[in-house]
Amino acid sequence: MSTAYEPVIGLEIHVQLKTRTKMFCGCELSFGDPPNVHTCPVCLGLPGALPAVNARAIHYGLMIGLALGSELAPRSVFHRKNYFYPDLPKGYQISQYDLPLCRGGRLGDVRIHRVHLEEDAAKLVHVGESGRIHGSDASIVDFNRGGTPLAEIVTEPDIRSAEQARDWLQLLRVTLRQLGVSDVNMEEGSLRCDANISIRPAGSDELGTKTELKNMNSFRFIEQGIKAEIERQEALLRAGEPVVQETLHFDPRTGRITSLRSKEEAHDYRYFPEPDLVPIDITDEMLEAARAEVPELPAERQERYRTQLGLNEDSAKLLADRVELAEYFESVLAVNGSEPQAVANWVTELAARLDEGDPAASKVEPGALAALVGLLSDKAITVGAARQVLDRLVAEGGDPKAIVEAEGLGAIGGGEELAGLVAEAIAANADAAEKIKAGNMKAIGPIIGHVMKATKGRADGGEVTRLVREQLGL
Ligand code: ADP
Ligand code: MG
Ligand code: ZN
Repeated sequence: MSTAYEPVIGLEIHVQLKTRTKMFCGCELSFGDPPNVHTCPVCLGLPGALPAVNARAIHYGLMIGLALGSELAPRSVFHRKNYFYPDLPKGYQISQYDLPLCRGGRLGDVRIHRVHLEEDAAKLVHVGESGRIHGSDASIVDFNRGGTPLAEIVTEPDIRSAEQARDWLQLLRVTLRQLGVSDVNMEEGSLRCDANISIRPAGSDELGTKTELKNMNSFRFIEQGIKAEIERQEALLRAGEPVVQETLHFDPRTGRITSLRSKEEAHDYRYFPEPDLVPIDITDEMLEAARAEVPELPAERQERYRTQLGLNEDSAKLLADRVELAEYFESVLAVNGSEPQAVANWVTELAARLDEGDPAASKVEPGALAALVGLLSDKAITVGAARQVLDRLVAEGGDPKAIVEAEGLGAIGGGEELAGLVAEAIAANADAAEKIKAGNMKAIGPIIGHVMKATKGRADGGEVTRLVREQLGL
């Protein structure tokens, strides 16, 4: 019998913080500005320039720690991480080493190892006729990005599949977005993820040798890359060959994994405390200020919607992931205490019509959506009619009841009128009626269709069925 393997994955996520200025200087952050317009002696690494810590970045770091339930350091220290690369003008990155801002914590089913702050490197742009990323003809440097504040979030190796990695990263992304600390845009590079991957025989609790997949910039590529690496490692082990610890690159176009550097080439960073910065004492005032800005987060909101409001999993997640939908949902609920799941369903219908838009900025007042849900639950309109009313509300706003009256969309619920229409429909579909009488209820389609056509969809399907049975003496 062949061994079953279990993947073990830990993620390292770099998040650009949405501060106004850089981590250690007053240069403005920007994305998409012309190259090298946001620079100064500090972020260009000129000799003699002195860094100063961005207080807002510390504040955001504390908010992240609070959101993840981390232990927040009373005193935090910056270190120099020494290495040479053309995107690093000082020859070292100011980062954190043994005294990170936050330690431990958890998000969903994954434990957090630590969160620390550091500065981003500049951006290298590879140019040339070859058009290749590696070994292009020339590389030019844009220092606008150099010195951007980053939070690095490191997880414990708690993830067990590529799909789980993708889903968890999505949860982290919406959490950070709702915290308001980052744009979390993977294409623009404000959220970047490295995945550490190993496999081990299922049931083992030892860790296998890991490899590190660098800098994947979409959720799809992360999932594909991790999958491909798990398969590669499994093939090695099955062939009796070892997994070598190395840093890898996944090319989503070819699906191929190539080596960037092996353990032997690993850097010795010669960390030492940054002599130009004093340690940061985290005061109670700083903690209070951070705490005051942490809102209810997606995981908590989803849980509350499920347990307290009885929403189904999909609705709870959709609303929790998009805070503007959640807030709108709650303001509709506040109007007249409609049934939460019904309101959630119609907020979802509305969201689909608004694309990515915020319903609060639409023409549909929360009171109007509440009224629409009320008309439906009173059976004053059918679902089909409610959708038509919603289309009108999205286009022009207004009051659902008035729209229903003006357009004649009210449900034909029962009474003489509907009974008469059903009788007509049976007469016009005599053979269908015979089949129903012979016990084949499926034959009812054309009769219902006839009534719906005559009422422009305003009849209640259940009521029509009941009347058909009654009139056929069943
Ligand atoms: P390194 O010193 O190589 O950076 P760390 O111990 O700091 O390694 O861990 C970095 C990341 O790799 C963390 O997210 C951690 O959870 C993960 N990790 C560590 N060991 C393994 C392993 N054997 N398999 C998978 N992930 C691992
Ligand atoms: Mg590491
Ligand atoms: Zn600067």
